[in-house]
Amino acid sequence: MGKRKTIFDCGHRGYGKACHRCTQELIAQQQSVELLAEKQTQKQEKEASFARDLIDLRGLPDHVVTKARAIIAALSENKNYRDFGGKRLRHNRWIVSIPVTRNYRMLCEDCGTFLIPQKVLSHEDYNVCKPGSH
Ligand SMILES: [Zn+2]
Repeated sequence: MGKRKTIFDCGHRGYGKACHRCTQELIAQQQSVELLAEKQTQKQEKEASFARDLIDLRGLPDHVVTKARAIIAALSENKNYRDFGGKRLRHNRWIVSIPVTRNYRMLCEDCGTFLIPQKVLSHEDYNVCKPGSH
């Protein structure tokens, strides 16, 4: 005695009590809703972490943000900028430039006893500010 396919309310044909196709679709739908909610939460958490930063790090690559935060944290503990390869600008001794990655630098203002991070610039942005270019 072979099994017979049923026609479900949804119009699909199949075996068993409920339509497998519609059940699968429902599960997929629920998963995508959960994924979307998760993505939104991640986005909100990311935004909140940017709001906590001393300087605006939005729009920078993730690894640059991570490294910049590590430098900011170290500076706040009064670590020496020279430990990170930081140098004073030739045309403004009160500004210290610290390499973040190969392509990004952080400019900090020297307030005598501590450094205040000002900005993270890409290599291209930074070169515009070099002496002799204006
Ligand atoms: Zn169905």
